[in-house]
Amino acid sequence: MRAWIVAVAAIVAGSLLTGCEAGTERSVAGMTPDTTSSSPTPPSSTTTVAPLPSAEQPYPFGTVQAHAPATVGGKAPVVRHIDTAGKPYVFITIDDGAVQDPHALQLIKDSGARPTLFLNQQYVRGHEEYFKQLQDQDNLVIGNHTVTHPNLAKMSYAAQKKEICDDSDDFVKAFGTRPTLFRPPFGNYNADTQRAAADCGLKAVVLWTAAVNDGVVQFQAGNKLKAGDIVLMHFRKTFVEDFTAFIKRAKQDGLTPVPLPDFLA
Ligand SMILES: [Zn+2]
Repeated sequence: MRAWIVAVAAIVAGSLLTGCEAGTERSVAGMTPDTTSSSPTPPSSTTTVAPLPSAEQPYPFGTVQAHAPATVGGKAPVVRHIDTAGKPYVFITIDDGAVQDPHALQLIKDSGARPTLFLNQQYVRGHEEYFKQLQDQDNLVIGNHTVTHPNLAKMSYAAQKKEICDDSDDFVKAFGTRPTLFRPPFGNYNADTQRAAADCGLKAVVLWTAAVNDGVVQFQAGNKLKAGDIVLMHFRKTFVEDFTAFIKRAKQDGLTPVPLPDFLA
């Protein structure tokens, strides 16, 4: 009799244990993304970047630190460098949108950086959800880069205005906010571009002072990033290498990446 009770107790205990383990496995599997994001140590994947030591925001991101230069004579100002008032800040921008790397969301989040995205509607179309995730989960601001990425300097004012305004109009529908910053494709622009940008509601024509290509940071002057530099990279197959190279370089040069729109409000 006693042996029977022990046996039943063992079976009951065994089934509870099994159920518990199964339940734990299910909940762990279901919680993998949360567990990963809240882990103090980054996962040992080659496609993630360790958080910057300076990942704490030097000021509350999303608050105005400086305003864009004024629009004069109906022409949006051209900005290629930011006056950070001596603060060690650098700005990263990511253009086009042709390749939607699935690692970007987590990589950006882990870095603490807030890139500004200058996107072409031709690349966003059909991939709105990908860029909406970047906007919503990483709090990124989406800027205007024209619909089809043409050489604007060779186009009429009317044609330029259509390329620029249509991009903004589409992004209002796709992302709920109207871009305030503009980057001309190839960095090519003329006075009509500045006028068209202003007429499409854009505050600044934003160029750059450094770029990342094939995992290498390239400088227009000198051999390191400097405070106020605006860095250009792209949504390419080398996204992970390029973004990682930027984060490492900024850290090496003692700079904290901060959001560009905060300084061009
Ligand atoms: Zn481009």
